[in-house]
Amino acid sequence: MQNYINEAKEGKRISFKGFAVDSKSANFRGFEGSRHALGERDILIEILFAGICHSDIHSARSEWHEGIYPMVPGHEIAGRVVAVGEKVSKFKPGDYAGVGCMVNSCGECESCKEGREQFCDNGKMVLTYDCKDCFHNDEPTYGGYSNNIVVSEDFAVCVPQDAPLEKVAPLLCAGITTYSPIKFSKVGKGSKVAVAGFGGLGVMALKYALKLGAEVSVFARNKNKEAEALKLGAKALYTTDSLANVKERFDFIISTIPTRYDPMEYVNLLKHGGELAIVGLPPTGESVENDMTRLVFAANKKVYGSMIGGIAETQEMLDFSLKHKIYPETEIITADKIDEAYHNLTSGKAKFRYVIDMKKSFGRT
Ligand code: NDP
Ligand code: ZN
Repeated sequence: MQNYINEAKEGKRISFKGFAVDSKSANFRGFEGSRHALGERDILIEILFAGICHSDIHSARSEWHEGIYPMVPGHEIAGRVVAVGEKVSKFKPGDYAGVGCMVNSCGECESCKEGREQFCDNGKMVLTYDCKDCFHNDEPTYGGYSNNIVVSEDFAVCVPQDAPLEKVAPLLCAGITTYSPIKFSKVGKGSKVAVAGFGGLGVMALKYALKLGAEVSVFARNKNKEAEALKLGAKALYTTDSLANVKERFDFIISTIPTRYDPMEYVNLLKHGGELAIVGLPPTGESVENDMTRLVFAANKKVYGSMIGGIAETQEMLDFSLKHKIYPETEIITADKIDEAYHNLTSGKAKFRYVIDMKKSFGRT
């Protein structure tokens, strides 16, 4: 039995091994640390797969704020429950579980009670990594590029035994972040939808919108993934160098773009009353400043931002995805390839989602 399972059972701090960066320009290295002891409503998960989200890159490179180092990223986590606190009711050892971007929140404010824990009114939402955990003496959180994680059972979702875990992991962020605004904007049969930014999130948005009966086009910087887009069911792939020439108009556009761009170019592609959901998070200082009068002249179109989704909605998304076999497009790697994956994701060489096989990375059987 792994040492950390005994530690959990004995109420000790839980040791883990992972992969960390020490600064915004560092490469990944092996890391050993400890997590808080198993609380009565916590579960300990042996991590089997962890997706690489572009947010991991923004965080590791301090592109939004100065990161907390050493940093172990990873918020697309799927694994097996190996120990549970005495008051845990949702999980038992042997169950599969998933963890996304959050590991805790106050649970008492209006947002938490209404299932929008990511917007906790008391500012107590604890991110899976690169965050101070206000429920555990402000110690830093460490994410999923590791062999285990301890999390409140309220922040883990139930994964059935027959689910393909390597496909489940990216659903915990890429899945929910696209599912949530697609539902919020009531995308359905006959909706004309566009997906801007066709990477890990974009491909999920395409698949959900298609499943709900929409006609979906894709906007990308080049034609590299045109064949994949069409094969997956997209109506067309437009390149972003000629947006002004696009004649189609859309009911709903989701932007997953992680670099500098002008959202108004997409507002201009909406129909009257259409909605633009922004989920992509370019580095701080790289957003285009907009004169609000442009929105006035754009006439009755709606622009909103969306951040992941609450826990209940994440479970709903997972159940929906498994029921309809809506999975990410994945490439499985081992942890020694994380630096290369980051390079590919920022230089247009990546396809969709890299997923780290944690067992293989640690040589476990
Ligand atoms: P990926 O790197 O997998 O995909 C991004 C895609 O956008 C790539 O295909 C890239 O293409 C494309 N792209 C880059 N710049 C442009 C541009 N100017 N116009 C059109 N397409 C462009 O990233 P993810 O899908 O993992 O994440 C996307 C963004 O979403 C990130 O900023 C991430 O932080 C954010 N995010 C936000 C969340 C939220 O809750 N709101 C949750 C999760 C992620 P190319 O190959 O040409 O580079
Ligand atoms: Zn993410």
